[in-house]
Amino acid sequence: MSDCIFCKIISKQITAKIVYEDEKALAFEDIHPQAPVHILIIPKEHIPDITKIKDTETVGYLHKIANKLAEEKGVSDTGYRLVINYGPHAGMAVHHLHLHLLGGRPLNWPPG
Ligand code: AMP
Ligand code: ZN
Repeated sequence: MSDCIFCKIISKQITAKIVYEDEKALAFEDIHPQAPVHILIIPKEHIPDITKIKDTETVGYLHKIANKLAEEKGVSDTGYRLVINYGPHAGMAVHHLHLHLLGGRPLNWPPG
């Protein structure tokens, strides 16, 4: 999608600190990190949000990548959080499906 910021990161029109890429997905560091490890994992297909998924594989695939990256970033033992925001109450800002990987510090529960 031409006006989507994450599609522009996929097409390399906008730079990002990419930490993982394959034919179906991309992962990069969040520009405003909320934890020492804050990575966004996205499908290369433009899916606007979690309510628009057409299959059950895509979201699972993103989680598999997140687990692998958590291992690589050294937060597997201390723990981490995987989050998908949807809608105004959850603060969703970018309309391209993305999974947040947060770790490297204790994370409050319930979340704010
Ligand atoms: P959400 O609130 O779930 O829609 O999360 C969107 C996330 O995208 C936020 O954590 C932003 O900091 C992050 N973000 C927005 N623009 C960029 C960008 N150009 N590069 C990396 N992360 C971004
Ligand atoms: Zn997009």
